[in-house]
Amino acid sequence: MYERIAQEMVEPGSVRRFLGERTRCRYCGVTDLSAFGKRTNAHTFPAALGNRTLFSLDECRACNGEFSVYEDALCKAVGPFLTLGGVRGRTGVRKTGLSGSKSTMRHAILEGKRQLSIKAEGDANRLVGINEATGLIKLTMPVEGDVFVPLYAYKALMKIGLSMLPFEELPRFKGAIDSLADRNAKPHGGPLQVGFSYAFVGNAPPALAGTLLRRRDIGSRSPYMIFLLMAGSVCFQVWLHSDDLDAHVPEAGRLGFRCEAQLPKPEGGYFPITYSDPLQFDWSDMAPRLQPFEAFELTFNPQTTEGSFEPIPRR
Ligand SMILES: [Zn+2]
Repeated sequence: MYERIAQEMVEPGSVRRFLGERTRCRYCGVTDLSAFGKRTNAHTFPAALGNRTLFSLDECRACNGEFSVYEDALCKAVGPFLTLGGVRGRTGVRKTGLSGSKSTMRHAILEGKRQLSIKAEGDANRLVGINEATGLIKLTMPVEGDVFVPLYAYKALMKIGLSMLPFEELPRFKGAIDSLADRNAKPHGGPLQVGFSYAFVGNAPPALAGTLLRRRDIGSRSPYMIFLLMAGSVCFQVWLHSDDLDAHVPEAGRLGFRCEAQLPKPEGGYFPITYSDPLQFDWSDMAPRLQPFEAFELTFNPQTTEGSFEPIPRR
């Protein structure tokens, strides 16, 4: 039903790569070379999600500056995952929770080992539980984290998808591209749907993968272009609305691709992970809201010292 038309990946040890050319900005159309700046100016995937090596040459400096607002919102939306996963952004690993809030998470490397410290206020009996039968310890960690503007976070995902579109597809996505220039403009009417899934891994490997899937059958009632972004332990999917091939597609569907990935281990090699069934968010709102998860549940096996995290969506 769908064919993969583009895929880009970044993982530890990736060599630097550049997409596009500095002849014309794919968003605003500027053609003056001086508008582009350094070759490493525009990250294809946000630097804050761990991208150090993949850059877009066809994104001008002005657009890049404007888009940073969108990327910031996306990173705030997944802030707790970045902290838990130890994902290094430009200024180190993100902290979650502000001083004075009910809970904070910090990530540190001590003597080469990852250390996560979590501070939560509340009744310890409600936060910690031991399963007598299995011996597993369950810790519930409430998180507040940042507020983010859902529309901006949506546009960050949309923009990454657009940055990977093959050149000949661009004329079909003028509505989406034009909406990037005006911060508060919506790319289309109706909900701005995001499928969000996660994997139960504590140590998210700093790996990123973007994939564009295009409908094979031009008349089918499913979205023409789907963009998937896997970033360590989280995976997003959005419908990139085309100007001319999506009018007949019902808005009410859900974005339900089940994702699997092979993620690199810090010590080398790969392990397979399966992401959860996607939660469905509508990120069309301009009003800031708290990031989507109210707590993380850590299940810990004291015998093996293995643990896994499960996010609990906000009700
Ligand atoms: Zn531009």
